[in-house]
Amino acid sequence: MHRSGLSLSEVSRQTGVSRAAVRDWANHPEALTGRAGETCARCAPVPAFPEPNPAYSYLLGLYLGDGYLSYAGDPRKEVWALRIFCCDGWPGLIRECVDTLTAVLPGHRIGTVPKTGCTEVVARWKHWPCYFPQHGPGKKHERRIELAPWQCDIVDRFPENLVRGLIHSDGCRITNRVKRTVAGREKWYEYPRYFFSNRSQDILELLGFNLDRLGVEWKMANTGNLSVAERDSVAFLDSFIGPKH
Ligand SMILES: [Zn+2]
Repeated sequence: MHRSGLSLSEVSRQTGVSRAAVRDWANHPEALTGRAGETCARCAPVPAFPEPNPAYSYLLGLYLGDGYLSYAGDPRKEVWALRIFCCDGWPGLIRECVDTLTAVLPGHRIGTVPKTGCTEVVARWKHWPCYFPQHGPGKKHERRIELAPWQCDIVDRFPENLVRGLIHSDGCRITNRVKRTVAGREKWYEYPRYFFSNRSQDILELLGFNLDRLGVEWKMANTGNLSVAERDSVAFLDSFIGPKH
Protein backbone atom coordinates (compact mmCIF):
# COMPACT_ATOMS: atom_id res chain seq x y z
CA MET A 1 0.00 0.00 0.00
CA HIS A 2 2.86 2.36 0.85
CA ARG A 3 4.62 1.54 -2.42
CA SER A 4 1.45 2.25 -4.34
CA GLY A 5 1.52 5.81 -2.99
CA LEU A 6 -0.33 5.86 0.33
CA SER A 7 1.40 7.68 3.16
CA LEU A 8 2.66 5.73 6.20
CA SER A 9 -0.08 7.32 8.29
CA GLU A 10 -2.75 6.35 5.77
CA VAL A 11 -1.52 2.74 5.64
CA SER A 12 -1.46 2.66 9.43
CA ARG A 13 -5.00 4.02 9.63
CA GLN A 14 -6.40 1.57 7.06
CA THR A 15 -4.68 -1.55 8.43
CA GLY A 16 -4.68 -0.86 12.14
CA VAL A 17 -0.92 -1.54 12.23
CA SER A 18 1.06 1.09 14.13
CA ARG A 19 2.74 3.76 12.00
CA ALA A 20 6.13 2.82 13.53
CA ALA A 21 5.74 -0.81 12.38
CA VAL A 22 4.64 0.21 8.90
CA ARG A 23 7.67 2.53 8.69
CA ASP A 24 10.04 -0.27 9.83
CA TRP A 25 8.60 -2.70 7.28
CA ALA A 26 8.74 -0.13 4.48
CA ASN A 27 12.38 0.65 5.31
CA HIS A 28 13.43 -2.95 5.93
CA PRO A 29 11.29 -5.25 3.80
CA GLU A 30 13.94 -8.00 4.10
CA ALA A 31 13.05 -8.27 7.80
CA LEU A 32 9.64 -9.64 6.78
CA THR A 33 11.11 -12.83 5.40
CA GLY A 34 13.69 -15.24 6.65
CA ARG A 35 13.23 -14.50 10.32
CA ALA A 36 13.94 -17.33 12.69
CA GLY A 37 10.89 -19.56 12.82
CA GLU A 38 9.32 -18.03 9.72
CA THR A 39 10.35 -20.87 7.46
CA CYS A 40 11.05 -24.54 7.94
CA ALA A 41 12.96 -27.14 5.94
CA ARG A 42 9.93 -27.53 3.66
CA CYS A 43 8.89 -23.94 2.99
CA ALA A 44 12.42 -22.50 2.83
CA PRO A 45 13.33 -20.95 -0.56
CA VAL A 46 15.15 -24.20 -1.36
CA PRO A 47 13.04 -26.93 0.27
CA ALA A 48 14.92 -29.64 2.07
CA PHE A 49 13.66 -32.75 3.78
CA PRO A 50 12.78 -32.58 7.37
CA GLU A 51 15.74 -34.39 8.86
CA PRO A 52 15.77 -37.63 6.85
CA ASN A 53 16.04 -39.70 9.97
CA PRO A 54 14.03 -42.55 11.45
CA ALA A 55 12.29 -40.17 13.88
CA TYR A 56 10.31 -38.50 11.09
CA SER A 57 9.24 -41.86 9.65
CA TYR A 58 8.01 -42.97 13.09
CA LEU A 59 6.27 -39.64 13.72
CA LEU A 60 4.55 -39.88 10.34
CA GLY A 61 3.17 -43.27 11.42
CA LEU A 62 1.94 -41.83 14.72
CA TYR A 63 0.34 -38.88 12.92
CA LEU A 64 -1.35 -40.93 10.20
CA GLY A 65 -2.60 -43.47 12.73
CA ASP A 66 -4.29 -41.44 15.40
CA GLY A 67 -2.66 -38.02 15.45
CA TYR A 68 -4.29 -34.80 14.41
CA LEU A 69 -3.54 -31.19 13.70
CA SER A 70 -5.62 -28.27 14.82
CA TYR A 71 -5.06 -24.62 15.56
CA ALA A 72 -3.47 -24.00 18.94
CA GLY A 73 -5.47 -21.05 20.19
CA ASP A 74 -6.25 -18.05 17.99
CA PRO A 75 -6.41 -19.16 14.31
CA ARG A 76 -5.04 -15.77 13.24
CA LYS A 77 -1.72 -16.67 14.83
CA GLU A 78 -1.55 -19.77 12.65
CA VAL A 79 0.19 -21.87 15.24
CA TRP A 80 -0.72 -25.54 14.97
CA ALA A 81 -0.94 -28.17 17.66
CA LEU A 82 -0.02 -31.72 16.77
CA ARG A 83 -1.76 -34.05 19.20
CA ILE A 84 -0.84 -37.69 19.55
CA PHE A 85 -2.68 -40.03 21.88
CA CYS A 86 -0.40 -42.48 23.65
CA CYS A 87 -2.45 -45.33 25.05
CA ASP A 88 -1.45 -46.98 28.29
CA GLY A 89 -1.38 -50.31 26.45
CA TRP A 90 2.06 -49.56 25.03
CA PRO A 91 4.47 -49.01 27.92
CA GLY A 92 7.19 -46.50 27.15
CA LEU A 93 5.22 -44.94 24.32
CA ILE A 94 4.77 -41.53 25.97
CA ARG A 95 8.50 -41.16 26.62
CA GLU A 96 9.32 -42.27 23.09
CA CYS A 97 6.73 -39.97 21.55
CA VAL A 98 8.20 -37.00 23.43
CA ASP A 99 11.75 -38.03 22.46
CA THR A 100 10.70 -38.37 18.81
CA LEU A 101 9.08 -34.93 18.75
CA THR A 102 12.20 -33.50 20.38
CA ALA A 103 14.34 -35.11 17.68
CA VAL A 104 12.15 -33.66 14.90
CA LEU A 105 11.72 -30.27 16.61
CA PRO A 106 14.83 -29.58 18.65
CA GLY A 107 14.36 -26.82 21.21
CA HIS A 108 10.53 -26.94 21.31
CA ARG A 109 8.60 -27.58 24.47
CA ILE A 110 6.57 -30.77 24.23
CA GLY A 111 3.51 -30.97 26.48
CA THR A 112 1.76 -33.99 27.97
CA VAL A 113 -1.88 -34.01 29.07
CA PRO A 114 -3.15 -37.01 31.08
CA LYS A 115 -6.50 -38.39 29.90
CA THR A 116 -8.48 -41.49 30.80
CA GLY A 117 -6.55 -44.53 29.57
CA CYS A 118 -4.08 -42.50 27.59
CA THR A 119 -1.89 -39.43 27.55
CA GLU A 120 -2.09 -36.73 24.94
CA VAL A 121 1.28 -35.48 23.75
CA VAL A 122 1.13 -31.99 22.22
CA ALA A 123 3.67 -30.05 20.20
CA ARG A 124 2.91 -26.55 18.94
CA TRP A 125 4.54 -25.26 15.79
CA LYS A 126 3.68 -23.04 12.83
CA HIS A 127 4.96 -25.50 10.26
CA TRP A 128 3.19 -28.78 10.99
CA PRO A 129 1.18 -28.57 7.76
CA CYS A 130 4.50 -28.24 5.88
CA TYR A 131 5.70 -31.48 7.49
CA PHE A 132 2.34 -33.25 7.17
CA PRO A 133 0.81 -32.13 3.87
CA GLN A 134 -1.86 -34.80 4.46
CA HIS A 135 -3.53 -32.30 6.74
CA GLY A 136 -6.81 -31.01 5.36
CA PRO A 137 -10.37 -30.27 6.35
CA GLY A 138 -12.49 -33.16 7.53
CA LYS A 139 -11.53 -36.61 8.70
CA LYS A 140 -8.61 -38.57 7.28
CA HIS A 141 -10.79 -41.40 6.02
CA GLU A 142 -12.95 -38.95 4.08
CA ARG A 143 -10.15 -37.65 1.91
CA ARG A 144 -7.32 -39.04 -0.14
CA ILE A 145 -4.16 -39.72 1.90
CA GLU A 146 -1.12 -39.85 -0.31
CA LEU A 147 2.53 -39.39 0.65
CA ALA A 148 4.50 -36.59 -0.99
CA PRO A 149 7.60 -37.75 -2.91
CA TRP A 150 9.95 -36.46 -0.21
CA GLN A 151 7.97 -38.41 2.41
CA CYS A 152 8.21 -41.56 0.29
CA ASP A 153 11.99 -41.11 0.17
CA ILE A 154 12.15 -41.08 3.96
CA VAL A 155 9.75 -44.02 4.39
CA ASP A 156 11.70 -46.01 1.76
CA ARG A 157 14.74 -45.68 3.98
CA PHE A 158 12.99 -46.35 7.28
CA PRO A 159 9.90 -48.52 6.64
CA GLU A 160 10.10 -50.26 10.05
CA ASN A 161 9.75 -46.90 11.78
CA LEU A 162 6.61 -46.00 9.85
CA VAL A 163 5.06 -49.42 10.59
CA ARG A 164 5.99 -49.07 14.24
CA GLY A 165 4.43 -45.60 14.47
CA LEU A 166 1.21 -46.75 12.78
CA ILE A 167 0.83 -49.75 15.07
CA HIS A 168 1.71 -47.75 18.19
CA SER A 169 -0.98 -45.21 17.43
CA ASP A 170 -3.77 -47.28 15.93
CA GLY A 171 -2.84 -50.87 16.54
CA CYS A 172 -2.60 -53.44 19.28
CA ARG A 173 -0.93 -56.72 20.08
CA ILE A 174 -3.23 -59.26 21.63
CA THR A 175 -2.86 -62.84 22.72
CA ASN A 176 -5.51 -65.33 21.63
CA ARG A 177 -5.79 -68.25 24.03
CA VAL A 178 -7.10 -71.42 22.45
CA LYS A 179 -7.98 -74.67 24.23
CA ARG A 180 -6.97 -77.85 22.41
CA THR A 181 -7.27 -81.48 23.46
CA VAL A 182 -3.96 -83.28 22.96
CA ALA A 183 -3.70 -86.98 23.83
CA GLY A 184 -6.88 -86.77 25.86
CA ARG A 185 -5.70 -83.74 27.84
CA GLU A 186 -6.82 -80.19 27.55
CA LYS A 187 -4.06 -77.73 26.82
CA TRP A 188 -4.06 -73.98 26.36
CA TYR A 189 -2.13 -72.47 23.49
CA GLU A 190 -1.33 -68.79 23.10
CA TYR A 191 -1.23 -67.08 19.73
CA PRO A 192 -0.06 -63.50 19.77
CA ARG A 193 -1.17 -61.36 16.88
CA TYR A 194 -1.17 -57.78 15.77
CA PHE A 195 -4.15 -55.73 14.70
CA PHE A 196 -4.31 -52.36 13.06
CA SER A 197 -7.64 -50.56 12.83
CA ASN A 198 -8.21 -47.53 10.67
CA ARG A 199 -11.11 -46.21 8.66
CA SER A 200 -8.90 -44.83 5.89
CA GLN A 201 -8.43 -47.27 3.03
CA ASP A 202 -5.35 -45.29 1.95
CA ILE A 203 -3.70 -45.64 5.35
CA LEU A 204 -4.47 -49.38 5.46
CA GLU A 205 -2.91 -49.73 2.00
CA LEU A 206 0.15 -47.77 3.08
CA LEU A 207 0.65 -50.15 5.99
CA GLY A 208 0.05 -53.22 3.79
CA PHE A 209 2.56 -51.97 1.22
CA ASN A 210 5.23 -51.46 3.86
CA LEU A 211 4.52 -54.83 5.53
CA ASP A 212 4.91 -56.47 2.11
CA ARG A 213 8.28 -54.87 1.57
CA LEU A 214 9.38 -56.12 5.03
CA GLY A 215 8.20 -59.65 4.18
CA VAL A 216 5.42 -59.65 6.80
CA GLU A 217 2.33 -61.76 6.05
CA TRP A 218 -0.92 -59.96 6.74
CA LYS A 219 -4.57 -60.06 5.83
CA MET A 220 -7.66 -57.97 6.28
CA ALA A 221 -9.58 -59.47 9.21
CA ASN A 222 -12.55 -57.36 8.10
CA THR A 223 -13.15 -53.90 6.69
CA GLY A 224 -10.88 -51.52 8.52
CA ASN A 225 -8.96 -54.19 10.43
CA LEU A 226 -5.63 -55.52 9.26
CA SER A 227 -4.23 -58.53 11.09
CA VAL A 228 -0.82 -60.18 11.34
CA ALA A 229 -1.16 -63.68 12.79
CA GLU A 230 1.43 -65.84 11.02
CA ARG A 231 4.03 -66.95 13.58
CA ASP A 232 7.25 -65.78 11.90
CA SER A 233 5.65 -62.48 10.96
CA VAL A 234 4.48 -61.87 14.54
CA ALA A 235 7.98 -62.73 15.80
CA PHE A 236 9.48 -60.30 13.31
CA LEU A 237 7.14 -57.49 14.42
CA ASP A 238 7.93 -58.37 18.06
CA SER A 239 11.60 -57.77 17.26
CA PHE A 240 11.02 -54.04 16.79
CA ILE A 241 7.50 -53.11 17.89
CA GLY A 242 6.39 -54.72 21.08
CA PRO A 243 5.50 -55.59 23.72
CA LYS A 244 9.00 -55.17 25.09
CA HIS A 245 10.19 -52.44 22.74
ZN1 LIG B 1 7.15 -24.37 6.72
